[in-house]
Amino acid sequence: MLQFTKVGQDYPEKRAAGDRAADFAEISTSFVVETAEEQSSRCSQCGVPYCSTHCPLHNHIPDWLRLTAEGRLREAYELSNATSTMPEICGRICPQDRLCEGNCVIEFSGHGAVTIGSVEKFITDTAWEKGWVEPLAPGPDRGQSIGVIGAGPAGLTVAELLRVQGYEVHVYDRHDRAGGLLTYGIPGFKLEKPVVMRRVDRLAQGGIVFHQSFEVGRDATLDELRARHDAIVIATGVYKPRAIKAPGVGADGVIEALDYLTASNRKGFGDAVPAWDDGSLNALGKRVVVVGGGDTAMDCVRTAIRQGAASVRCLYRRDKANMPGSQREVKNAEEEGVEFVWLSAPEAFHDTGGTVSGVQVSRMRLGAPDPSGRRTPEVDPGMGERIDADLVIKALGFDAEDLPRLFGSPDLAVTRWGTLRVDHKTMMTSLDGVFAAGDIVRGASLVVWAVRDGRDLAERMHAYLKAKAATKLLEAA
Ligand code: FAD
Ligand code: SF4
Ligand code: SF4
Repeated sequence: MLQFTKVGQDYPEKRAAGDRAADFAEISTSFVVETAEEQSSRCSQCGVPYCSTHCPLHNHIPDWLRLTAEGRLREAYELSNATSTMPEICGRICPQDRLCEGNCVIEFSGHGAVTIGSVEKFITDTAWEKGWVEPLAPGPDRGQSIGVIGAGPAGLTVAELLRVQGYEVHVYDRHDRAGGLLTYGIPGFKLEKPVVMRRVDRLAQGGIVFHQSFEVGRDATLDELRARHDAIVIATGVYKPRAIKAPGVGADGVIEALDYLTASNRKGFGDAVPAWDDGSLNALGKRVVVVGGGDTAMDCVRTAIRQGAASVRCLYRRDKANMPGSQREVKNAEEEGVEFVWLSAPEAFHDTGGTVSGVQVSRMRLGAPDPSGRRTPEVDPGMGERIDADLVIKALGFDAEDLPRLFGSPDLAVTRWGTLRVDHKTMMTSLDGVFAAGDIVRGASLVVWAVRDGRDLAERMHAYLKAKAATKLLEAA
């Protein structure tokens, strides 16, 4: 260990920009065992590991780095797997620069952080290859069942951990495949779909019952599910797209980011997607404008490049330093040919015969800081321009849907943002036995936080269900 003074930081090689823009495969290659060992040996084994403190899962990072450096990969896998239900997924898509790696002491000393995410991915990918990932083994049957609404990372994590405790677990999801945004939001060039599906398959083989294409609110009310199960988890994520209020926004060809990304991901699965085939959700040959500066916008611009767009521009109302999306993703997008138009916002949409033909863009400047310290963008008068466009993708982020109405449960309490109100000690909503986790509680967040919530929630629900079973026994006595 402590090799950081002799061994430089090395990430797995990225495929050349021209190559990777031609397909939806992941852009980074993997470590081979020698590089994983060498890179792990750079860790200085800090007594107070800030990497772990800043990992939402508090992964035992220095310990699995040491085991990897010593060639004890199977033990490294077991340790990494002890705190996470999907380490190889987090290793791929966590914004490490803001979490573990961004807080590595070696980064601060100017040597470049230990490449923690890439090692984490390597360890568990190797475990899958070598057959070390064991089937999910359910504990002895407890005679109680739980219903999980939403098969995203939060719901899948609760489902796995409670199945291990011996509960009967049913997962309900309105999509035809499980995985939530891992499956239909995040594109394959960040996260290849077989990586998600092998996790889902393992859960199904472990006896978790998946009810796909089952929409709560349409196929059952929340109360009906409560009557079927001893406890319920709501992990439905946030799906109400933030609107743009500008004239012409209703023109054909002005589309929602998630419709666009879902169509592209479905195409990748080989599904029939009429809206892709007829061009309405396909960027091929088009001048594309994406509005927004977060992860979703970055995924849209890079998807458009891969679909063969004639040009791809991204409008963002602040500057590069103040955008919410990862700088790593902006760099990837720029390398692949995306043009960023910083400090710009749509003022109106032009159309020809009802179909979008351009965006009238206002130039922005950064004004006084808001209460959070971020400078507020304001229009710079007289500086507008028109940008021609055949496809405009709105990627301004997501809010919570109106769950009390959709679920037919007016007593389900929400915050002023529409997210579910929970007791943070128990993670229970205002309804007895109904818990919640992930984006529907936090607002749009990260996969690793959804996994963390799922892990915490499994513990709280287990305590609740044990108490419920004990009360039943007492009543029966
Ligand atoms: P979700 O993953 O949203 O899953 C919720 C599930 O609930 C869905 O499957 C949905 O179909 C189901 N559902 C909803 N309503 C109902 C209903 N009424 N009945 C039945 N089922 C229902 N995070 C990262 O860490 N790294 C990234 O690179 C990253 N990129 C992203 C890119 C995009 C385009 C988007 C949109 C998000 C990205 N995120 C990223 C954020 C991350 O995907 C989410 O924070 C995470 O998936 C939240 O997990 P969740 O389980 O709470 O919800
Ligand atoms: Fe880093 Fe994310 Fe892995 Fe934690 S889960 S160690 S933050 S990559
Ligand atoms: Fe190793 Fe960096 Fe974590 Fe310290 S902060 S234990 S050097 S990975």
